[in-house]
Amino acid sequence: MSFFDLVDFDDHEQVVFCSDKETGLKAIIAVHNTALGPAAGGCRFWDYANDEAALTDVLRLSRGMTYKNAMAGLKLGGGKAVIIGDPKTLKSPELFKAFGKAVNNIAGRYYTAEDVNITTSDMATVNQVTDYVAGLDGKSGNPAPFTALGTFLGIKAAVKFKLGKDDLTGVKVAVQGLGSVGYDLCKKLHAAGAELVVTDINPMALEKAAAEFNATVVGLDDIYSQDVDVYSPCALGASINDGTISQLKASIIAGCANNQLAEARHDQILKDKSILYVPDYVINAGGIINVALEIYPEPYCEKQATKLVERIYDTLMNVFEKAKAEDKPTGIVADEIARAIIAKGRN
Ligand code: NAD
Repeated sequence: MSFFDLVDFDDHEQVVFCSDKETGLKAIIAVHNTALGPAAGGCRFWDYANDEAALTDVLRLSRGMTYKNAMAGLKLGGGKAVIIGDPKTLKSPELFKAFGKAVNNIAGRYYTAEDVNITTSDMATVNQVTDYVAGLDGKSGNPAPFTALGTFLGIKAAVKFKLGKDDLTGVKVAVQGLGSVGYDLCKKLHAAGAELVVTDINPMALEKAAAEFNATVVGLDDIYSQDVDVYSPCALGASINDGTISQLKASIIAGCANNQLAEARHDQILKDKSILYVPDYVINAGGIINVALEIYPEPYCEKQATKLVERIYDTLMNVFEKAKAEDKPTGIVADEIARAIIAKGRN
């Protein structure tokens, strides 16, 4: 296998393989691009089928962070880390300290944070041996409300662009997933006069949404075919696929979930069907924006974080307008804008 010929290798600046026999640590840290600043992105703990799958994941995720941070207007590059193995059996304070040492060895080119299967308390252990950690308890706090704010503003931008409406009164939104972000988003949508249709695997969350937001509850598979204006994926990745696109009646897709399109080609398919797809990594950047301000030399400031999150509205309007003018899918246009920002940073 030639590493540099891998499909997911995208001129990553640095890829570090870390191991520590005593604690069982096997990790990969990928620094994709630091043109705009030190790389930042979470660390994921996952029992990958094999090491190649872990490498593929970290290469893709770190590249995604470069684009996300650039589009969010942050002075940060993109990076990501994966710890390989079953978190249930492998997690220990010593393992996280060994990981922290590996992060420290990169000397500030990469800032880590929690991601799938890693808690803020795990990151506090990492923080015992390195300062290059963000998203710690007692600092910027829970990112979900900031992600919800950005997603709410992204929906407003899409409704304005696609439906010509300045407000959300009477706009019908189908929300898939009422977790940390989805619930907060529903609260904002309800307060703005939107009509909600919701689904979740958690019956308690559904009862709450019905009682508090007068939301209509539907089955898991019925969420796609609802007669609504906006479909808002806030649970899983890849919910936009060949099987679901054909069911959609919504003319807008705008939600906080990561990696919403099952395959890149679905961007073009949505455009062909006149469905406005709001690129996931642009609309859901509120959380990373909040965390990022912990990394900046200036002290964390909630007001500044909120101001930066509010820019998501204009950033998305720019994407929609450019996509329309150039007759291109929105995902492709977002990537082009991100690449231009990164190139400018490099120069
Ligand atoms: P969460 O785990 O708090 O919520 C997910 C919700 O989805 C839960 O209520 C869960 O019961 C529900 N769910 C799971 N499977 C489902 C299914 N098949 N159908 C319907 N509902 C289902 O997660 P979250 O923090 O709210 O994040 C939601 C999504 O947004 C994830 O994709 C996450 O990666 C992404 N995201 C979150 C943040 C953040 O700040 N938390 C930032 C960026 C992106």
